[in-house]
Amino acid sequence: MSEPPILREETFDLVIAGTGAAGMAAALRAKLNGAEVALLEKAETVGGTTAISGGVVWAPGNAHAKAAGVEEDLDALLGYMQRSSQGRGDEALHRVYASELPRVIQFVEDALGFAFEPLLDYPDYQPELPGGRAGGRSLDNPLYDTTRLGEDRPLLRRNLVNGGAPITIGEAMRWRVFSNPFGLPYKEVAARAKAGIVHGGAALVGRFLEALLAQGLRPRTRHAAERLVVEDGRVVGLVASTPEGRVLFRATKGVVLACGGFEWNASLRARFLPIELTHPLSPPHNTGDALRMAQSVRADLTCMNEAWWTPAVVVPGETIDGAPLHRGEFSVRCLPHAIIVNARGRRFTNEARNYNDMTKPFFDQDSSRHEPRNVPAFLVVDQQYMERYVLVTAVKGRPLPDYVLEGATLRELAEKAGIDAAGLEAEVARWNAYCKTGVDPDFERGTSAFDRFYGDPTAPVHPNFGSIEKGPFYAVPIHPGAMGTKGGPRVDAHARVISIEGEPIEGLYAAGNAQGSIFGAGYPGAGATIGQALLFGTLAAEHATR
Ligand SMILES: Cc1cc2nc3c(=O)[nH]c(=O)nc-3n(C[C@H](O)[C@H](O)[C@H](O)COP(=O)(O)OP(=O)(O)OC[C@H]3O[C@@H](n4cnc5c(N)ncnc54)[C@H](O)[C@@H]3O)c2cc1C
Repeated sequence: MSEPPILREETFDLVIAGTGAAGMAAALRAKLNGAEVALLEKAETVGGTTAISGGVVWAPGNAHAKAAGVEEDLDALLGYMQRSSQGRGDEALHRVYASELPRVIQFVEDALGFAFEPLLDYPDYQPELPGGRAGGRSLDNPLYDTTRLGEDRPLLRRNLVNGGAPITIGEAMRWRVFSNPFGLPYKEVAARAKAGIVHGGAALVGRFLEALLAQGLRPRTRHAAERLVVEDGRVVGLVASTPEGRVLFRATKGVVLACGGFEWNASLRARFLPIELTHPLSPPHNTGDALRMAQSVRADLTCMNEAWWTPAVVVPGETIDGAPLHRGEFSVRCLPHAIIVNARGRRFTNEARNYNDMTKPFFDQDSSRHEPRNVPAFLVVDQQYMERYVLVTAVKGRPLPDYVLEGATLRELAEKAGIDAAGLEAEVARWNAYCKTGVDPDFERGTSAFDRFYGDPTAPVHPNFGSIEKGPFYAVPIHPGAMGTKGGPRVDAHARVISIEGEPIEGLYAAGNAQGSIFGAGYPGAGATIGQALLFGTLAAEHATR
């Protein structure tokens, strides 16, 4: 089949595909090194998953934590990274993460003219493992005023889930927003949103965008990288589809693949992931283009069966760039009076554990029926829950949204949801017994500092425990989702893509979720994905433009 014609050629030093944390960091570093850069983005807005994220960065040994007295022991940190990667991380690159990321954070802060805030009480995701910490490694973004972008404001992707309530993670912790949602100073926060203030990942991307525009580098939206161009064994550019037609972007110093994972590509998902990942949380443009391009030049691959797993809920009708919006479920499941059950009415996971680990039991198979044992699954809460907290978008005193199932009794709820009623009644009785002691012998809920972090410290017995006994009862379907996939080309300490022969492929770099993750099956702490993206994006630009 002949390829559509190429409209024209343009030549740059570095050509970068993708405008999330990885692409933005690469672009800014290269630009400040004096390089001519083309920054291509497939979507109509910039920021990708990064812009709708919490924006937290896991950066052990960062200067802010050090100043606050947090000491890191390198061996303990490396041991933790490998253990939390379940032995499948890249130890050499963990070392690079530990030694180089603090410097990269400093670069980002200096170049963007702001300071991250240390989250001294935000636990690692497995803080009880050797080398884990109960706080001090994650960094938070201060709020950002998008009016600084002037006419370019519409370029910045918006957070559709909580962009209307711009607060920092530090504020959320101080105001105990997770367990005290009605304590949020709504008027003040709504006024911020109205004034154009954004938080989290959107704040980080907004700052990058402002800095790039000030450097004269305008990301080219609706430019989708399609295929690499190779001459004499070296990657010398890529062809992108653009609103005008297909353009060849030549790159004298390199191409950086920063265009995310393959979570929106059904065929790749089916071939590589252990379950059908039905609910990706990212915008729908991450369709594995980086993976396909890397494969075309014989890249070695890693982590192909892994993702940054997160359970998801759906509010019918919500969309993101024309695709269904899948909301990450971070807090309901950790609170008292809330459990997750499968269609047999049985709990199957520690609901309050970090999202990457607690989602994995969704993969369990019923070996007799060859079906997933824990899909479908439901969040189940009672009226005590509804009186204290928020259930996705359901708030006491307002009409119950249609997607929230309600039953006067557990049996009625089970029948509406298609859950085995006797199973649910028995499981809830069992759970209620555990709530008397705050001990969960089945799944050890509440045994980690991380579990308790999203719980309710005012709960009488334990932050993660509260009975389910007061009707009406409510259920919301909950699905196995992911923030993005982890599989992709293996990279070295300069973010160079490694070939199946084990050598760097000249002129080709990968960063962020476009690269094969260095963290194997694990998720060491809040912000490890953006940490990886900022680090390898910066390293790629440094190497290419050195
Ligand atoms: C609700 C939520 C909260 C999260 N919170 C955090 C957090 O606090 N900390 C953390 O570390 N992680 C968090 N994550 C995960 C994190 O956002 C992502 O893992 C990370 O942002 C990925 O960065 P990236 O640059 O690799 O990819 P992305 O940010 O996804 O950027 C990739 C970009 O490439 C573009 N693209 C795709 N194909 C092409 C192509 N062919 N050509 C050109 N462009 C292309 C996409 O449109 C996209 O803009 C969260 C995710 C979600 C959904």
